[in-house]
Amino acid sequence: MADFLDKMIVGINKGVSSVSEGSRAMVEKAKINTAISDAEKTKAQLAQQLGSLTHQAQQNGLELPENLLAVCGQITACNDRIAELKNRLSEMEAAKAAAQVPAPEAVPTVPVCPSCGTAGRPGGKFCAKCGTALQ
Ligand SMILES: [Zn+2]
Repeated sequence: MADFLDKMIVGINKGVSSVSEGSRAMVEKAKINTAISDAEKTKAQLAQQLGSLTHQAQQNGLELPENLLAVCGQITACNDRIAELKNRLSEMEAAKAAAQVPAPEAVPTVPVCPSCGTAGRPGGKFCAKCGTALQ
């Protein structure tokens, strides 16, 4: 009986230790994956920087192999497109701003009775008080 219990405890301990080893391995894996994605982000940033610098150098007259030159041409095309689109946006903004200039509000003219001076209704033809024709 005691043997059986001992074995059970050993078994449980083994289970616990393999679980904690498993979670340690998981933590380790997560750390490694984070490090990989950090390195990949940095690499992407550096590749972008390299591309920009290469494009800049090409614009300044550096001669490049044809494959790099082709990509530089595409970057130039993108720059042109971006500039064109930004220009279109600012034109839209300008048009919107112009449209938003408040138009002078049409104030309804209130006819005043030439006879008694009473203000009539806008568009009214006769004075409500004395009946004189309004102009
Ligand atoms: Zn009147």
